[in-house]
Amino acid sequence: MRSKPIVRLLAGIAALVALASPAAARERADLLIRNANVVDVANARILSGQAVAVRGDTIVAVGPDSTIARGYESDRNVNAAGKFVMPGLWDMHMHFGGGAELANENKALLPLYVANGVTTVRDCAADISEFVLAWRSDVAAGKLLGPTIYTSGPKLEGYKPIWKGTLEVGTPAEVDAALDKLQAMKVDFVKITDNTLKPNIFLYAVKEAKRRGLRTSAHTPYALTIEQAADDGLSSVEHIDYLIKAGSPKEAEIGKLYAAGKMTYGAASEAFVDSFDPVYARGVYRTLAAKGIYVTPTLNMGRILAYLDREDHSKDPDLAYIGPGLRKTYDWRVERAAKATPDQVAARHREYELSKKVLPMLVEAGIPILAGTDAGYLNSFNYPGEGLHEELERYVEAGLTPQQALVTATITGPAFLGHSDRYGGLAGGKAADILILDANPLKDIKATRAIGGVVLHGKWLDRAALDGLLEQAKAGAAR
Ligand SMILES: [Zn+2]
Repeated sequence: MRSKPIVRLLAGIAALVALASPAAARERADLLIRNANVVDVANARILSGQAVAVRGDTIVAVGPDSTIARGYESDRNVNAAGKFVMPGLWDMHMHFGGGAELANENKALLPLYVANGVTTVRDCAADISEFVLAWRSDVAAGKLLGPTIYTSGPKLEGYKPIWKGTLEVGTPAEVDAALDKLQAMKVDFVKITDNTLKPNIFLYAVKEAKRRGLRTSAHTPYALTIEQAADDGLSSVEHIDYLIKAGSPKEAEIGKLYAAGKMTYGAASEAFVDSFDPVYARGVYRTLAAKGIYVTPTLNMGRILAYLDREDHSKDPDLAYIGPGLRKTYDWRVERAAKATPDQVAARHREYELSKKVLPMLVEAGIPILAGTDAGYLNSFNYPGEGLHEELERYVEAGLTPQQALVTATITGPAFLGHSDRYGGLAGGKAADILILDANPLKDIKATRAIGGVVLHGKWLDRAALDGLLEQAKAGAAR
């Protein structure tokens, strides 16, 4: 009887001690990143003295280091003092492909993306979708190390296009059947290109995809204006040259001549460049922004192709990561470029230089930009992972601030695909896809290359682990 109040008293003291003592109240985390400078990309600022707590594949808390340390404990603590922590990078335009015989060479590129800080890729169609869909699920299930994959599956094209592995459509019924097939494959968006696709079928496909709740990315047929495509619901324009076209007051007129067979594709492209008018273009870009269209410039790919005449890529160190079969697919563009006349070469240089001027105009008009490389088979010397850092550097060369460039690789991708709730920043509830950098990327965009470690779907990969992935990729490519 007498001991009861004492027991109560002791229990009370124990409870008070538990409340006051941080150790007893701490929650478990699988990983704690301590003393970090968090890069708040959206607000262009650095929050210093922060900690990030990760559980499973999710960030559970971000806040002042002392607060997080009071609330969480972990067996794995990464000291990020002096480092900069930001969300993983998204490459919103790349390709897996080159035929089933190159499937393994494509698969070997997955760790290369991760080693370069790219934690998500958007596959903009190719000819090996059955493999890509399997990798997409295996990565999501944690069975395969690689970036999160979003894919269009095979793209829509007209009859007998130059591209392999496409869904060839020439009637609305064929478009319906193709979209049924893509929906059965659970694709993440629909890619449409214009090599032989009839303009009316293009517009039907865009409208029908939208009606079914699918996002569309496209090369728009020259016979249509970009505004027409946007009016019918096109979600994104791939490649900035289509925005040069949109910025020409003669866009419709040149498009009609091309459609009537009175102008070649090359001549029409040059005519768009020559008739581009910045004042007119600004108005069109504001209209396109209001219609909600996104643009993936693939600026670096444009630069590589434009300057194949004067740049020798045969000794690029990154070739060591590319398998022999994929390297062989690079020849197509190199051979095509070698056949160009001096006038055609000059026209390509002109087009690229104009593209650089167009990019900041798009940003100023409020068009969301998606960073994408176009890396993959056929696209010469544009290297998986590495290419995204080059793309961001091209943006800054063209006049974007480092922050504007970072937005294109972290925030607009998730927004385009409808995943902003889970991606696009470092905060509780967001995916644990994190880069730890040695320098501040808001000051110098090249800092995105200074990767000290990557958290991929919650899994910590230090520099040694990333170097191991690079070595593995090199050994695989040499075989
Ligand atoms: Zn592409």
